[in-house]
Amino acid sequence: MNEPLPRMEEKGTKDTKANNVVVAFLLRVAGFLGFRRHSPYVKDYLNNANIRSGVFMALVVIALEVWMVIRRLNDTVIPMTQEGGNFFELLFKNTSNFWLMLFMGVGMLTYCVAYLDKKQTTWKQVTAIIGGVLCLVFAALLPLEPFRGNGNIRDILLISFYVSIILFGIAVIGSTIYLRVKGKKSLLPPMAVISFFALVCLVFGVKVSYSDFFSSASYPLGEATMYEHKMIICFLMMTIYVGCLLIWRPFASIGILGVAFLAFYFLLVSFEGVEKTHRKLPDGDVVNYITFFISLTMVCFSIYHQRIQEATKEQKLHELATTDSLTGLYSFDYYLQVVREAIDVHPKILENYQHVFMDLDGFSTYNDQKGFAAGNDYLKRFGALLREHFPEGYICRQGEDHFALFVPQGSIESFLASSKEEMASLDPDLTLAINIGHYHQVLPEEDIRRCVDKSRFAAHIGRDTPSKVHEYGRADHDAYHLRQYVIRNVERACAENWVQVYYQPIVDAKSGKVVEFEALARWIDPKRGFLSPASFIPALERARLIHRLDAHVFTTVCQDYARFFEATGRSVPISINVSRADFDYMDVAKVLADAREKYGVPAEAIHVEITESALTVDENKMTDFLTHIHELGYPLWLDDFGSGYSSFNVLKDFRFDVLKIDMRFLEGFGENPKIIDILRSIISMAKSLGMESLCEGVETKEQAAFLRKEGCNKLQGYLFGKASPFEDSLALLDTVKVD
Ligand code: C2E
Ligand code: MG
Ligand code: MG
Repeated sequence: MNEPLPRMEEKGTKDTKANNVVVAFLLRVAGFLGFRRHSPYVKDYLNNANIRSGVFMALVVIALEVWMVIRRLNDTVIPMTQEGGNFFELLFKNTSNFWLMLFMGVGMLTYCVAYLDKKQTTWKQVTAIIGGVLCLVFAALLPLEPFRGNGNIRDILLISFYVSIILFGIAVIGSTIYLRVKGKKSLLPPMAVISFFALVCLVFGVKVSYSDFFSSASYPLGEATMYEHKMIICFLMMTIYVGCLLIWRPFASIGILGVAFLAFYFLLVSFEGVEKTHRKLPDGDVVNYITFFISLTMVCFSIYHQRIQEATKEQKLHELATTDSLTGLYSFDYYLQVVREAIDVHPKILENYQHVFMDLDGFSTYNDQKGFAAGNDYLKRFGALLREHFPEGYICRQGEDHFALFVPQGSIESFLASSKEEMASLDPDLTLAINIGHYHQVLPEEDIRRCVDKSRFAAHIGRDTPSKVHEYGRADHDAYHLRQYVIRNVERACAENWVQVYYQPIVDAKSGKVVEFEALARWIDPKRGFLSPASFIPALERARLIHRLDAHVFTTVCQDYARFFEATGRSVPISINVSRADFDYMDVAKVLADAREKYGVPAEAIHVEITESALTVDENKMTDFLTHIHELGYPLWLDDFGSGYSSFNVLKDFRFDVLKIDMRFLEGFGENPKIIDILRSIISMAKSLGMESLCEGVETKEQAAFLRKEGCNKLQGYLFGKASPFEDSLALLDTVKVD
């Protein structure tokens, strides 16, 4: 009595455990019988597997029935015709069922092929409908075949056979029309076709086997035994057929096969059969019959479970290959594939849909400020927002913060109008703007990747517009093609010297003499003429190909250094421009060292210019690169100082020898008095940080005089000369440009 009461949770746990075991067992049994939910992918997989089985089964039916018709012709129709019978009447009487089965095979085959056809080709669907119509027409003709009229089982079976074939014909026609109109949106139509096909097969098997059984009664007793054991073979064959076709759920297999076996068994032992044949089924046959049923059902079970396993595995692989793991949107490759398919199937979609590219403005800064995890979370929620706003569209993340969409026209405007608050709610601290580019594809055969590229191209232009949205138009088309041309031809352009190095003089402010040069690339194209760096440098940087051009420039510069040396007998320093991507795609130090070694150039004669914007990405890596370059003895110049947002940060973190003041500071010189103050401060700051200063874009004597007065060390600009080929530059050396 003093036994402690079980604690509530213990009791509860015990019961739940007991329940769980029972529930788990029941669930397992139910799962084994096929009572479980399948994902749409698995359902579709099973369905397609059944449809593929349908193709093979239909082919078997067709081959079998053609063979049967030929046999009957040879054995019965032709001999009887020779004895004076009417050929067509005899043919109809003796082969009508085979024809009917043959047409059914054709209907089944054409439907399955049309269903599996990804492109939904019209002629395949029309052929399927013709197959269905043939079944209906022939089935309508068949009642001409006389019934025995006794109202006996054979007549009932015959009628069932016609009815099931009519149902099959209707199912084929209806399902093909459904396929045409709605696509593969529901599993019901193919299930109906397969089920009615299975029904016809079963009824046919029962009918033929029963007829054999019945006919054997007309033989004398001794002879009949020769046939009676074979009479169920047709039925069994048809059940195997149906077993192979109907692998959806084990309970369905048990149900359909069970009903068929039971029905056939009761027919065999029915009063009518026993009365007419005066024989009973041997016990051994009954046992074999039941064993056959069980084995067949087990085969269906096993195929079902194997298919489910395969489907689940394939689903996982499919998900991995088709979805972006972060946002759950399409992966880029899969997106290209589905959009291609959508256009191939319905080319008219292009009238209403367009390609859109979205790029979050300042996302890398967001990542830097808030961390990678917060950045990922932002992208995830942005992906969900897109999915919600473009339910009719195809959407993928191309990588980083880039999204490609194929969506109805006009939907961007409504997206922008209605998503403002949601965009703000993605992060209350910071609302990122979206750069959007869109492109309207006209030709269905245009490569989808190219269309995405064009919309991305437009998005980059959109970045610089107030609305941030830009449609790819005629001018973009030319720029896009120029970019593609540059990307495709950069190797050739370097190899064949279309890319040349021009030299812009740099003047020592004190002496006014040209003492050094900046190397600037020029692309003189045999087809397109003179291309400015603005049209090829950014394109090559974006395509990660700038290192090819720069390697060529480095070598040419070293070669020209040797030529300057030969001509003047002294060292003329040259500054080179280095892009951020150079460090990622080549060993800058090694390429420079190789070129210098080849032409005997000292490291201090090559000034490495890098822009401040190149230093804001992946700062630690860049610090390592630049420290290394500096240690090797190359003077480091900071190019375009003041053109970006983080100029002062850069000065804090890196050590430079020369500060090149961006030429935009000189815009409005003489009109805006602030310019003078700003330039004065920058020059003095450079001095106090131990750097020399160089001002770019000097175009007037007033500017030059002011800069010299303020202590700017070097000057560069059109006042002293534009960038020109080697020979012209050589002539400028040591000339006095300002007094
Ligand atoms: P940058 O390095 O700042 O070069 C100076 C640019 O300003 C040059 O343009 C030059 O022609 C121009 N410039 C010089 N003085 C004046 C002036 O008084 N007034 C005006 N309005 N402009 C002047 P360019 O040659 O078109 O080069 C543009 C940019 O392309 C360069 O800017 C540099 O960032 C890049 N670039 C040029 N060549 C190469 C190269 O070989 N490799 C790499 N990675 N970038 C290069
Ligand atoms: Mg430069
Ligand atoms: Mg510059």
